[in-house]
Amino acid sequence: MTQHSQPDRAMEEKKNTAENSVEKKSKNFIYEIIDEDLKNNKWGGKEICTRFPPEPNGYLHIGHAKSICLNYGIARDYKGKFNLRFDDTNPEKEEQEYVDSIIEDVRWLGADFRNKILYASDYFEQMYRWAVELIKKGKAYVCDLSADEIRATRGTLTEPGKESPYRNRSVEENLDLFERMRKGEFANGTKTLRAKIDMASPNFNLRDPIMYRIVQAEHHRQGNKWCIFPTYDWAHGNEDSIEGITHSICTLEFENHRPLYDWFLDELGVYHPQQIEFARLNLSYTVMSKRKLLQLVKENYVDGWDDPRMPTVCGYRRRGYTPEAIRNFAEIIGVAKRDALSDISLIEFAIRDDLNKRTQRAMAVLKPLKIVITNYEGEEELEAVNNPEDATAGTRKVQFTKELYIEQSDFMENPPKGYHRLVPGGEVRLRYAYIIKCEEVIKNDKDEVVELHCTYDPDTRSGTGTSTKKVKGTIHWVSAKHAIDAEVRLYDRLFTVENPGAEENWLEKINPNSLEIIENAKVEPFLKNAKPLDKYQFERNGYFCVDTKYTTNEKLVFNRTVTLKDSWAQK
Ligand code: ATP
Ligand code: MG
Repeated sequence: MTQHSQPDRAMEEKKNTAENSVEKKSKNFIYEIIDEDLKNNKWGGKEICTRFPPEPNGYLHIGHAKSICLNYGIARDYKGKFNLRFDDTNPEKEEQEYVDSIIEDVRWLGADFRNKILYASDYFEQMYRWAVELIKKGKAYVCDLSADEIRATRGTLTEPGKESPYRNRSVEENLDLFERMRKGEFANGTKTLRAKIDMASPNFNLRDPIMYRIVQAEHHRQGNKWCIFPTYDWAHGNEDSIEGITHSICTLEFENHRPLYDWFLDELGVYHPQQIEFARLNLSYTVMSKRKLLQLVKENYVDGWDDPRMPTVCGYRRRGYTPEAIRNFAEIIGVAKRDALSDISLIEFAIRDDLNKRTQRAMAVLKPLKIVITNYEGEEELEAVNNPEDATAGTRKVQFTKELYIEQSDFMENPPKGYHRLVPGGEVRLRYAYIIKCEEVIKNDKDEVVELHCTYDPDTRSGTGTSTKKVKGTIHWVSAKHAIDAEVRLYDRLFTVENPGAEENWLEKINPNSLEIIENAKVEPFLKNAKPLDKYQFERNGYFCVDTKYTTNEKLVFNRTVTLKDSWAQK
């Protein structure tokens, strides 16, 4: 079952918290567990230690970002340690490209891992020795059943599994076989090492789970040193124990694995961290599975892992999101014990809130309509506010001339009731400038409006004008002579349904209008100095960020990060 987060309530609560809520310790249930542990001196004075353990088999997405914020946030708040550890135990799916992108993303999110990059593969020798210990204790055995046979003998919910015919091999034979597995004497899939626990356990994970598989494949760091690789269940607790993790936080699907996590560490008699599960992040109108994201990239439904419509960390970065907004989003949604679908408007709220405070304002006309001010001659500079939310940001000059561009949508020949922008014979204020009146509408032979002839009222100049005239609408504009060209990319949700991951034909739910490219936008001339990832508010049009991929010396490309208001809320 899914439940919806309430954007309005969450926003309200957020506003009630301290200015920088990231620095504030959020009292989710994991903090309560840690507080209790500290009260009982469970860790004997040891510092709190958390980790983020990605498998380098894809790019990080916003769900991973949530996990990073949670784990790093705990280490920061309790003045402990946060480890970045690659869970690189599966050579067939892992690549250096993913390792590099993950390091970049974790760093960008602001999680401090003390520049220490840890790899599970560095612990393979220790894990091997521990496996040998379990064999010696009679708690692990080499099994010759194939993967299919192991699956077929696991039993069902109502029936116990069948014991492997190899289960009662002697310790000596197991030690010998395991060593020869390591030496590469056996082919892929012909043998495994299994824990000897209980084939009748109601928990499937305890029915003699596999600890090692033979995989003859090159590992991205270990080369061909190893041909046996530990399974997640065996490796993960070992890794946590070796690093002295106190709280090993993972997603809910591992709840049933916890007894196994505990069993391995108890049998080994080594340092034993506490596994705690929380609900993974699911975001509406988004798919989050790595497999699906990979498919979107490989089959060119999107323009790479960093396509601004992707829920990847690099996609959000390219789109213009900030680490602060993502951290605040993680704070807003909190940490739950039950799976839920978070509303995508919450992350949009977080980025708007952040960009509103910090971005330079500019005027940009996305779909230009030319207007000629017939009674104006010459040129003058008017003063425009850089950021009304930040008094220190000051003002800039904008050039006003006889020929300007306004948005096509700011003029209507036959307006509906309540339309307060420009209409034939009507008046409107040009932002930071004058009130103008539309005197004549020029059309082409297809009856399309191509130009407007207007007059301006010199007494209505913003700030200094003497006229007390008031009009209902204010629109933005740029001087035709001074404006520079830009390409603008507008994004909508990548999927048309709320929970695309639950759809069988999820690819058919891709929104065909999720990208609109406008090639001939006109923007204020100061933007010619804008650098990739620079962020602005284009008045009335939203927040925009200079694209890192398509911007060149000749061409300026802006991505719309987010609209100024939640347009979906009104649909
Ligand atoms: P898989 O294991 O299938 O490749 P994964 O998404 O679990 O996919 P990992 O690299 O294992 O990928 O994830 C690293 C960490 O991120 C894990 O600790 C996992 O719990 C956490 N994580 C992954 N997806 C989410 C999510 N949607 N919400 C919160 N945490 C997540
Ligand atoms: Mg995983």
